[in-house]
Amino acid sequence: MFLCAADPQLSERTIILDKARFPRDKICAGAVGDRAMRALASIGVEVNVAKVAIQALSVSTQETTRRYVMPGPTPIGRVIRRREFDAAVLDAAAQRGVCVRTGVRVKGIARRPQGLTLQTSEGEVSASLVVGADGVGSFVRRWLHLPQGLLYAQAVEVDTPIHPSDPPRDTLHFDLTATTMRGYGWDFPTIVEGQPMVCRGVYELVRGAGQASEMDVADRLSERLRDRGFNPDSYRFKRFAERGLAIHEPYGCDRVVLAGEAAGIDPVLGEGIAQAILYGQAIGPYLARAVADRNFSLGGYETAIRGSRVGLDLSIRGRLPRLFYGRGRPIAERWLSHSPSLALAGMHYFAGQRVPRAKLARASLDLIAATLASVR
Ligand SMILES: Cc1cc2nc3c(=O)[nH]c(=O)nc-3n(C[C@H](O)[C@H](O)[C@H](O)COP(=O)(O)OP(=O)(O)OC[C@H]3O[C@@H](n4cnc5c(N)ncnc54)[C@H](O)[C@@H]3O)c2cc1C
Repeated sequence: MFLCAADPQLSERTIILDKARFPRDKICAGAVGDRAMRALASIGVEVNVAKVAIQALSVSTQETTRRYVMPGPTPIGRVIRRREFDAAVLDAAAQRGVCVRTGVRVKGIARRPQGLTLQTSEGEVSASLVVGADGVGSFVRRWLHLPQGLLYAQAVEVDTPIHPSDPPRDTLHFDLTATTMRGYGWDFPTIVEGQPMVCRGVYELVRGAGQASEMDVADRLSERLRDRGFNPDSYRFKRFAERGLAIHEPYGCDRVVLAGEAAGIDPVLGEGIAQAILYGQAIGPYLARAVADRNFSLGGYETAIRGSRVGLDLSIRGRLPRLFYGRGRPIAERWLSHSPSLALAGMHYFAGQRVPRAKLARASLDLIAATLASVR
């Protein structure tokens, strides 16, 4: 859609192929920062699906639980169900004249003198350029012989009824109480078929921040459920991998580029929906220029991504796993639980609102204070 916004004439020359038929379920907690919705709104796309509006976040560490509320009436984000959200996004693309073909699996790619041929479950498709936005198990990535990635995570989730100990419905809750884990637990409000529920899960980096802990994410989730009085055996856990972007690894070459989780997303929290949308925002104008110039080598793709909003975001977050899940963990915990400025700066960023400089400055001072406190 961002490609079509950059050059509307490309709409009828663009095809989206997806092996799934929509609406389809996707294992995902569905928290989306409003920066992604603002990016879509900037090209006139509104995604109207059921949602829980988010206005606050809370963090539990071994020491304390703190809840931070964004002042003002505007939510910072929303929790959606991917079943509805992804179908609505595809509908919006189709309304813009893009040919959307679902239930079509890409099974092979061949280079030809004039471009590429994709072998699919429904016959061949010729293309000048291919964007592999095909998720963590990306076929396109494997076809390019790119490594699986330096930063890899496991995540597991389940939807349960609300528990009296849950924070208010407008809150994303992060649980950092398991200090040996390179990750966190979460409790996000959600709506399942019209019913208010809570999506609970565990995310852990299994590569890229030292050794993963010995307890499996599913066992940790069972423990989290038992702590709230739920019987884990009564629920079907949904589990999936995630890939963080390692900014200096290649993620494209000659007519083919990777985007979204196929390239890599945020390795600290495993946040990938906003990133996938922001990849689109960066790639659209870049590809439109490449087509106009008939320059299909896409040699500057990595530079373009690194200089884009999503690239800057991911290059910063790519450096954080060692702070958050390595030796710096006590500092990170103290910082998160003692710095309202950090939380407010983070919420402004998540929402796509200008981050007040005073909050950033104050959060930096709080980091120094947290570092000094933990070396004492
Ligand atoms: C348990 C869990 C919870 C999560 N919670 C959150 C959250 O709360 N917030 C957040 O921001 N992120 C979350 N994420 C991460 C988020 O789900 C992903 O990062 C995001 O979906 C990536 O988007 P994408 O478009 O790159 O890939 P995907 O959403 O995976 O889409 C890839 C598409 O490619 C299609 N495809 C794959 N192979 C082929 C093929 N060979 N041919 C044709 N089509 C193909 C698939 O059918 C799919 O529709 C979570 C992930 C997990 C595992």
